[in-house]
Amino acid sequence: MTESASNTTESKTFRVAVIGGGITGLAAAQRLVSRSNNVQVVLLESSRRLGGIIRTEAADGYLMELGPDSFITNKPAALQLCEEIGFTDQLIPTDAGFRRSLVLRNGKPLPVPDGFMLMAPSNPWAILTTPVLSIAGRLRLLSEAWIARRTTDEDESLASFVRRRFGQQALERLVQPLVGGIYTADPEKLSLKATLPRFPEMEQSHGSVIRATMAQQRIDRNRSPQSHSVVNESSGSGARYGLFASAAGGLSDMVTAIERTLRKSRQVEIQLGVEVTALERLPASASQWGVQLRDQRPMAFDAVIMTLPTHAAARILSAAISPELQAALQEIEYASSAIVVSGHRLSDFDHPLDAFGLVVPAIEKRKIMAVSFSSRKFPDRAPAGQILLRTFVGGALQPELLHNDDEMISGFVNDELRSIFGMKAEPMFSEVIRYNNAMPQYHVGHLDRVARIESLLKNTPGLYLAGSAYTGVGIPDSIASGWLAAEHAL
Ligand SMILES: Cc1cc2nc3c(=O)[nH]c(=O)nc-3n(C[C@H](O)[C@H](O)[C@H](O)COP(=O)(O)OP(=O)(O)OC[C@H]3O[C@@H](n4cnc5c(N)ncnc54)[C@H](O)[C@@H]3O)c2cc1C
Repeated sequence: MTESASNTTESKTFRVAVIGGGITGLAAAQRLVSRSNNVQVVLLESSRRLGGIIRTEAADGYLMELGPDSFITNKPAALQLCEEIGFTDQLIPTDAGFRRSLVLRNGKPLPVPDGFMLMAPSNPWAILTTPVLSIAGRLRLLSEAWIARRTTDEDESLASFVRRRFGQQALERLVQPLVGGIYTADPEKLSLKATLPRFPEMEQSHGSVIRATMAQQRIDRNRSPQSHSVVNESSGSGARYGLFASAAGGLSDMVTAIERTLRKSRQVEIQLGVEVTALERLPASASQWGVQLRDQRPMAFDAVIMTLPTHAAARILSAAISPELQAALQEIEYASSAIVVSGHRLSDFDHPLDAFGLVVPAIEKRKIMAVSFSSRKFPDRAPAGQILLRTFVGGALQPELLHNDDEMISGFVNDELRSIFGMKAEPMFSEVIRYNNAMPQYHVGHLDRVARIESLLKNTPGLYLAGSAYTGVGIPDSIASGWLAAEHAL
C-alpha cells in the first residue's frame, strides 16, 4: 500500500509529512529543510492555497487582511523566521500617529487609559482621571498595589484574577474587552497561566502587578537606548500596539516568501487540494506512518507533523491509534467568529476614527466585539480620504450571532457603526469572513491538558502535533510550535 522511499536505495532519506499548510506547517517544513539535508518533506494542504487563516486581498485601492493583520514582536519567532527567509525589509511597524485604542462606555467611544497594557496600569495618573471607570472603580484598581498576594499556585481564570486584584469594574469595563478581543474568549473560563502567565508571576515576585510594572519601568529608564529596529517600544494605550508588526504588502506576502524558500529547496514537495483523512501505523514497518488522502493512494512516512486544529487532528487520528489521545485533543474547545471587512469614506463618519480601533465590553450589550481601524494601524491600506474597518462578531460570548446569514451580520454591524461612530452612509463595500471553530480556547486547566497530550504522544513515536492549540494562539507561537515539532522529528 505504500510508496515509501525508506527501503529503497535512498534509505538514508527521512520522509516527513507535514499536514496543514498554514503558518505552522510552513514553519515546520522550513525548519526541517534548513536543519537537515537528509530529510524529504511532503506538505499536504487540503485547500488550494497556502497560509490557512492568513489571507490578504487587494481590490479598488484597499489592502485587506481577511484574517490576522499583524504579529507581536516581543515573542521572537515571527521576526526570526522573517530574517531566515530574507523578508525583514518588508516588515512595517504600526503608524505611531494613531497609536491608541478606544473602549465603549455607555455607548460612547472613550480612550483606554494611557499605558494600560491588557491589565498592567503603568500610568497611575491616567487611571485616576479616566472616565471609563467611576471614582470608586479607579481607586479600587489602584489599591491593587496593597492587596495581598495569593498563597496558592493553582490555575485561575482571568476574571477571578482581575476581580480579586483590580475589582469588578476594571474587569468588566477594560480587561474583558481588551483580552477578550485577543482570545475571543469567556474571561470566566480563560486560564490565566496558559494565556498571560506574566501576571500571576508579577503577583508572586512583587506582591502586586502595579508594583512589578513600576519596578520594570525603573529598569527600563536606567537602560541605555537600544538600536532601532522595526519594533517601536513607545508607550500607547490598550494592547501594546507599538510592539506589533505587519508586512507592507500584507501578511500573505510573508506566506509567499516562505513558499518561495520551500519551493527552491529540492527537499520539499507541496501538494495543494489534498485532504488527509486518516493516519495509520503501517503493518510492514511498525516505525512508519501511513497517511491516507481522500481519493488517493496512501503514502508512507517516517514522521508526521500535524498542524491542524485539535478537532481536525482528532478526526484524522483514528481511535485505533490512541483513543486517549483522540479524546484529549477533543477536550480543547474552540470559538467561532466573523470579521466584517468594510470600506468607507472618512467623511461619512461623525467620529474622526483617530485610533487603532475600539473594543466593546460585553456589559455594553452590543452585537460587536471590536472594530479595528485597519488603515489607521498600517499605511496604504485604503485610498486617500477612505478608511478600511474590520469589525469582529461572535466569539465565545456571543456564538448565537453567527447563526445569522452574511446579510444580517453586515446589517447589524452597520447599525452598530451608525450608533457608535455616527456613520451616515452605507459602506462602499462590505464582506463577511467566517472563522468556524478557529480560535482555541485556553480554559482553566489548559496547561495540564497539554501536558497530558504531550505524555500520550510518547506512545506514538514519529507523530508530532503543532499549532495554535497548545502553547500560544498567535502567529509567533504557531511558528515556534512548528519549529519545535520539526526539531523533535529530526
Ligand atoms: C479571526 C482571527 C484573527 C486572528 N488575528 C491574529 C493576529 O492579528 N495576530 C496573530 O498573531 N494571530 C492572530 N490569529 C491567530 C493566528 O491566525 C493563528 O495562530 C495562526 O494563523 C494559526 O496557524 P496554523 O497554521 O496553526 O493554522 P491554520 O491557519 O488554521 O492552518 C491549518 C491548515 O490546515 C489545513 N487543513 C485542515 N484540515 C486538513 C486536512 N485534513 N488535510 C490537509 N490540510 C488540512 C487548512 O486548510 C489550513 O490551511 C487570529 C486568528 C483568527 C481566527
